[in-house]
Amino acid sequence: MKELNISAISDGTVIDHIPAEHTFKVVAILNLPSFRQVVSIASNLDSGKMGKKGIIKVGGLSLRERDVQKIALLAPDATLNIIKDFKVIKKRKLSIPPELDHIVKCFNPHCITNREPVPTRFTVETKEPLTLRCRHCERVMKREEMELI
Ligand SMILES: [Zn+2]
Repeated sequence: MKELNISAISDGTVIDHIPAEHTFKVVAILNLPSFRQVVSIASNLDSGKMGKKGIIKVGGLSLRERDVQKIALLAPDATLNIIKDFKVIKKRKLSIPPELDHIVKCFNPHCITNREPVPTRFTVETKEPLTLRCRHCERVMKREEMELI
């Protein structure tokens, strides 16, 4: 862990083990371009077990649970390190929750959630590969068809 220098921020969150191809999607979820504190983004770092990975460090930010769920969909093996006074005080492994409330859009254009202002709701059918069943229209959606709200 030393070479990653994860203590470089005094207080904040470090999101580690993001698959490299999703690093900038996680940045978009967090809306970091409008963020005013320290943000450090690294991608395509060598990681023994997962090939190439990304790390995002943000100062003073505690993540919203909704955003954590979105990140888990893109990067189910990512870890969150909560930093206080330059020390990791909490480490959390992400996991995809069994139900997703208004996190992803339904891919079925005829679904009521795409025609009326009804929040989407999905049940996670399988995690690997990821499939989600819409609670409104019962269609099953794969990871490639997912679009975050
Ligand atoms: Zn649907």
